[in-house]
Amino acid sequence: MKLIYTHENRFIVSNVQNIVQNAGINVTLKNEYVAGGAGDLSPFDTWLELWVTDDKDYEKASEIIRSINNTDNMHDWFCSQCHEKNSASFEICWQCQHERES
Ligand SMILES: [Zn+2]
Repeated sequence: MKLIYTHENRFIVSNVQNIVQNAGINVTLKNEYVAGGAGDLSPFDTWLELWVTDDKDYEKASEIIRSINNTDNMHDWFCSQCHEKNSASFEICWQCQHERES
């Protein structure tokens, strides 16, 4: 087991989990059930953590995560052609199909 990704935003970690899982890599979450009950824990301890089950998949998984971070910083973006707002997961504008520019 190796820690592959963690972020204070649980939604982002879940999103990364889905993408990595879709690539056929077994992953597991830690700190899944401590939200809201931080208590004496430091904020960092309650970050949702994504672990790869099999160490052999670590390299592949980190490559996937790197590529996510390169092309998709998890922020909404605006189409340069029609100025429509698009979700971070879209590679082309949902309205005019103009390709996303970084
Ligand atoms: Zn557009």
